[in-house]
Amino acid sequence: MKYDYLVVGCGLYGSVFARMATDKGKKVLIIEKRNHIAGNAYTEKIEGIYVHKYGPHIFHTNNRQVWNYINRFIEFNRYTNTPVVNYNGEIYSLPFNMFTFNKMWGCVTPDDAKKIIEQQKKQIKTEPKNLEEQAISLVGKDIFEKLIKGYTEKQWGRSCKELPAFIIKRLPVRFTYDNNYFNALYQGIPIGGYTKLVENILDGIEVKLNEDYLKNKAYYNSIANKIIYTGAIDAYFDYKFGTLQYRTVHFENEILDIPNFQGNAIVNYTDSQTKWTRIIEHKWFQFGKDEQDNVLSKTIISREFSKEWDRQDEPYYPVNDEKNNNLYLKYKELADKEKNIFFGGRLGEYKYYDMDKVMESALNFAEKELN
Ligand code: UDP
Repeated sequence: MKYDYLVVGCGLYGSVFARMATDKGKKVLIIEKRNHIAGNAYTEKIEGIYVHKYGPHIFHTNNRQVWNYINRFIEFNRYTNTPVVNYNGEIYSLPFNMFTFNKMWGCVTPDDAKKIIEQQKKQIKTEPKNLEEQAISLVGKDIFEKLIKGYTEKQWGRSCKELPAFIIKRLPVRFTYDNNYFNALYQGIPIGGYTKLVENILDGIEVKLNEDYLKNKAYYNSIANKIIYTGAIDAYFDYKFGTLQYRTVHFENEILDIPNFQGNAIVNYTDSQTKWTRIIEHKWFQFGKDEQDNVLSKTIISREFSKEWDRQDEPYYPVNDEKNNNLYLKYKELADKEKNIFFGGRLGEYKYYDMDKVMESALNFAEKELN
């Protein structure tokens, strides 16, 4: 018997859709080209530490429906993301808040911080056209130079003048003493890791790993009535209009026989000389303890490096500038004409989605599709 749905890709979008469809009595198969589930949220337990193999994932959302939904599958800890910046040995708090302003300028009150920013953004007279202008108009020139420019140019491999303004608007700017990186009602990390979370979402659903849909499209299309495709949209169309650009990252991981390397889960290196963008010390996502509350004696760190994506790399971040967005629209036009195949997720929609937004998109699509 044919499957009702073949889901291509076992990240959050595919897994949530598969769960919803299965719960509606549909017969579902998920195939995944890599050798593991959970997409880039994948975590691996090493020395009692859940290592975020594809970079730090901190679940946060304002959407109560999404939060309730995900909590059906796993318990979350109370981790709150409070990254630290290291700029040539000077330490600053993120996101941009009174602690940052105090360290940068010595100011104590919100009014004083606002006055300095007003002064420093005078050069921006019109609506910000790019990331640089947007950053300066939000937090002034000093913060742009020390905390944003080097990091952003390393992460994106492009000048801040060529990047879209929305990227920097992801970060809150606050005139309170609050180091919480996210403006989200709900936040945390799944206890037992993201792989466990996705395993639980997939309970009872057939999953085949190491299966590359694009290499055998005709066969896979023949075994299901409908396809949910969460891979890269340009790859699906064999790059016929050209490749969409992505950034990819890679990590140099080290297990260290010391209990504490940097005192925080994430330290960003915002100068332009240091080659890595940040160092992740995974144990702090779980407060330095294992699930039995034992203190972990070792630590694992990952230095993160960013580069332009090539066809053999894992795509991470879509480069949503105008050129790429226009190219995406051409692919989307083709995608909309396809029958019985639906494109979703960060790669399928070429969108800089956070995890909760991916889930929201999958839940909304499932509602429409399955009812
Ligand atoms: N950013 C920055 N300095 C930092 C951290 C972030 O300038 O220390 C900028 C950078 O341009 C980045 C954007 O803020 O691309 C969004 O950062 P976010 O943490 O949301 O990126 P992600 O979590 O997706 O890696």
